[in-house]
Amino acid sequence: MNQYVIAIDQGTTSSRAIVFDHSGNIVSTGQMEHEQIFPQAGWVEHNPAEIWNNTREVIASALSKANLTRHDIAAVGITNQRETAVVWDKNTGEAVYNAIVWQDTRTQPIVDQLAQDGGLERFKQKVGLPLATYFSGTKIKWILDNVDGAREKAEAGDLLFGNTDAWVLWNLTGGVDGGVHVTDVTNASRTLFMDLETLQWDQEILDVFGVPASMMPAIKSSSEVYGQVHTSQLLRETPVAGILGDQQAATFGQAAFQPGEAKNTYGTGCFLIFNTGEEIVHSKNGLLTTLGYKLGDAKPHYALEGSIAVTGSLIQWLRDNLGMISSAPEVEELAAGVKDNGGVYIVPAFSGLFAPYWRADARGAIVGLTRFANKGHIARAALEATAFQTREVLDAVNADSGVPLTELKVDGGMVANEALMQFQADILGVPVVRPKVVETTALGAAYAAGLAVGFWKDLGELSANWNEDKRWEPQLPAEEQERQLRLWKKAVTKSMDWVD
Ligand code: ADP
Repeated sequence: MNQYVIAIDQGTTSSRAIVFDHSGNIVSTGQMEHEQIFPQAGWVEHNPAEIWNNTREVIASALSKANLTRHDIAAVGITNQRETAVVWDKNTGEAVYNAIVWQDTRTQPIVDQLAQDGGLERFKQKVGLPLATYFSGTKIKWILDNVDGAREKAEAGDLLFGNTDAWVLWNLTGGVDGGVHVTDVTNASRTLFMDLETLQWDQEILDVFGVPASMMPAIKSSSEVYGQVHTSQLLRETPVAGILGDQQAATFGQAAFQPGEAKNTYGTGCFLIFNTGEEIVHSKNGLLTTLGYKLGDAKPHYALEGSIAVTGSLIQWLRDNLGMISSAPEVEELAAGVKDNGGVYIVPAFSGLFAPYWRADARGAIVGLTRFANKGHIARAALEATAFQTREVLDAVNADSGVPLTELKVDGGMVANEALMQFQADILGVPVVRPKVVETTALGAAYAAGLAVGFWKDLGELSANWNEDKRWEPQLPAEEQERQLRLWKKAVTKSMDWVD
């Protein structure tokens, strides 16, 4: 009875449900991809109804694969793609528009307009974020401004907003039949609306954006019982007891609980999170200040974050847009066919550049092409772009914290690529360390939920579950490292100031 915790990982490309045992090992997994909708250049949407249906299916599939029922599950945790905004009608349970995904740049005019009064950093001291299309706030405003009747309904109190954590939680706990409208501090810290000190929505900022407070979910800790799964669902009456945004969940799953610890997750994008403990640190080097986690009534932990928009999705682009490979792992073979990048650099600024530059006017660039360059060099340059971008974020973390990181814990889909991990260690000049369980995002959400119901007793127990799988030591001579970094930085300058 109650030997497991299930985590729902509502990610950018797929939804997963993963059952974990007490040692943090994976017992079974259900996974379904959902459609990526690109209505025009720069726009990225998901269908919220599809996401909720897939969530139910992956729960069913994870349970049935391991022959489990709800009686075996102590708690449900949720982790999610952050910043992706869903606005729905609380009376019908239907979204008024597709989810606007974190990568979507349609709200640039809103950002420009808001920045006219006080610049891009006008709310940064309070919320830790610059004004950017990335965060949920501008997306909510876009929906209210552009969807017929949405603003009237919102003002009448009929609409609710959530990142996909809140959307899944509301549905899971009953939807129109008493669904709980709650988010956690980590998700709330990605909207532009939460005061980092009070952990409450800031009325002044909501007013500037014209977003009614009634749409906003209640902000709770990352680990407490928010409600029970509704009686109509497979996991009925199981407590839903943990929520962490995906990057914070990965940090938690990596057991990076102490100030000074960090991890980098290599998925669609790359996100480096550096735990600053109970201190709110404001970056001078292009990093975001964000919530790390908050366990029940305990004090919150804060973090610095370096967000890179495009890393794994550049590999998908080679696959889907150029047809150079038929699956992501094939990029390894192609890159292995050449001895170096042949002088080619790719700056994948598809939605501008995020950390540490925050340049909305940048667009992708391939530079250094010669008649010699072939597919292998392009593949290699695409992989190297991930490592170079991470190096620039790590430099920013080191500059902000004043204490250089001595190794980097890594996770995410791309860490299966061993050549990339070696190159990453070479370009960073510090070891890169991969844990045994690389599904750290789901694990982190499971941990948060399990802690709340006493399935795990404390953080020490979780740290003991962390095991090293593999470590890559830097091998590149310093001179060569510097030469490559210099060329990368030159390539970055070529991508800027492109948008008319
Ligand atoms: P997310 O959670 O952001 O959806 P994942 O952590 O599942 O992403 O990682 C998937 C990403 O990793 C994809 O963008 C894919 O292109 C990339 N990827 C998968 N395998 C490899 C590989 N062997 N080499 C390089 N990239 C890979």
